[in-house]
Amino acid sequence: MDLSFKETKGAMTETQAVLEASRCLLCEDAPCNRGCPAGIDVKKFIRAIRFENFRRAINLIREKNILAGVCGIVCPREVLCERECSTTKLSTPIKIGDLQRFVAEKDYTARFKSLPQIKKNKIGVAVIGAGPAGLSCAAELATQGFEVTIFEKRDKLGGVLTYGIPLYRLPRQMLRHELDYVKKLGVKIKRNKAVDNLDEIFDAGFRAAFIGVGLGKPLSCGIPGEELKGVVAALEFLRNFNENSERIEIGKRIIVIGGGSVAMDCACSALRVGAKHVDLVCLEGPDELPAFKQEIEQAESEGVNIHPRFMPLKILSKNGKVSGLEAVKIEWKIPGRFVPENAVEIRGSTLTLIGDTIIEAVGQAPEENPLLRGLKRDRGYLVVNEQMMTSKTGVFAGGDIIASKVPRTVVQSVAEGKKAAQAITAYLKNSNA
Ligand SMILES: Cc1cc2nc3c(=O)[nH]c(=O)nc-3n(C[C@H](O)[C@H](O)[C@H](O)COP(=O)(O)OP(=O)(O)OC[C@H]3O[C@@H](n4cnc5c(N)ncnc54)[C@H](O)[C@@H]3O)c2cc1C
Repeated sequence: MDLSFKETKGAMTETQAVLEASRCLLCEDAPCNRGCPAGIDVKKFIRAIRFENFRRAINLIREKNILAGVCGIVCPREVLCERECSTTKLSTPIKIGDLQRFVAEKDYTARFKSLPQIKKNKIGVAVIGAGPAGLSCAAELATQGFEVTIFEKRDKLGGVLTYGIPLYRLPRQMLRHELDYVKKLGVKIKRNKAVDNLDEIFDAGFRAAFIGVGLGKPLSCGIPGEELKGVVAALEFLRNFNENSERIEIGKRIIVIGGGSVAMDCACSALRVGAKHVDLVCLEGPDELPAFKQEIEQAESEGVNIHPRFMPLKILSKNGKVSGLEAVKIEWKIPGRFVPENAVEIRGSTLTLIGDTIIEAVGQAPEENPLLRGLKRDRGYLVVNEQMMTSKTGVFAGGDIIASKVPRTVVQSVAEGKKAAQAITAYLKNSNA
């Protein structure tokens, strides 16, 4: 078990990659292609690797996804391209994510020899937020020749890729490499600049805007004791972990509330900053957890104690500070609805856990931001049409901030950012005519 901060090493050697690519059946109607939200031609790039044409492979990927390497590492491939591949005659699906990562890593040394030729126009477009959605939108617009400016409220680019996903899961040199790519396309970047008024953007001469501000508001369980010292929101903990890991003091016993990927990230990160015992309490049963199977297996193998089907009741305290959590075993009134209102407590099944810190990882929601005022919303999320345009003409949006039933992932945000950029291009061409 490796509980170090070591950034994970390359997934494959060249020989392994070519051999793996050679297993591909090159299906006529390749199902893997359908599994990629970004629309990467998976079959073609695997074929290029098979013929050792790595440059062509990375170009095929990057033309659809500027975060090729990041997605090669963090994409939940087991529910995307590799799941589709498992419907073929192969007994084990091709390791598509690892192959993508392999060619992206090869690209380090080449330093983007093949940047696209760009014919610039003088039309300005503002991109608000430098997460995967904003970066993807900005890169596509820049490639189309627009004068793109990204406004980012924090001092670093990347959104959740920088502040959320733990260091040990996503090597930051890969992220930096791909951020460099966006900059090399000529995108201007204004850091530490939160935009809270769309009128200012249009008054400054921008002809269209893209909103990719993600979800900034942490949700909480709403139980007594949440105001105590020692209760921390998941994203705040992870931001600290990614930026100041050597200075974090969370104590030896940690309790994480939540059963999703973010909860697993918090639990495994806590072990890396000195926690000796991590309990994870979640409403869902073992087969109902929203986290991916691999993440649950990793957490368990590192020693995280998962308490499934337990509902937190109150946070316990001693001298004004967290001392533990009381939870109770539950059943569901209606199967499949994993919300506290649907839970029935099982009498006599109270669980008392001891803890120095409680990390609440029960989801994020849109922040109350004046930027979004006046735009049509659904439970706080921006409503967009087929062209990713909001209710305000010329204002587009994508990524986690939009109302959508599709699972929220990095690759989904990249796909929406690019789709919005294509729609912005069409919109500006039409409004010029
Ligand atoms: C801890 C964690 C782990 C995850 N792990 C994975 C994973 O392994 N694989 C995966 O596919 N997905 C993962 N996800 C989901 C994925 O990261 C998100 O779906 C994706 O980052 C959303 O991209 P986005 O661009 O919409 O928003 P974000 O990444 O949230 O970026 C939004 C950016 O906008 C900026 N911003 C906000 N308001 C303003 C403003 N007013 N003005 C200017 N800038 C502003 C923010 O500072 C931020 O940089 C994870 C999410 C979390 C929280």
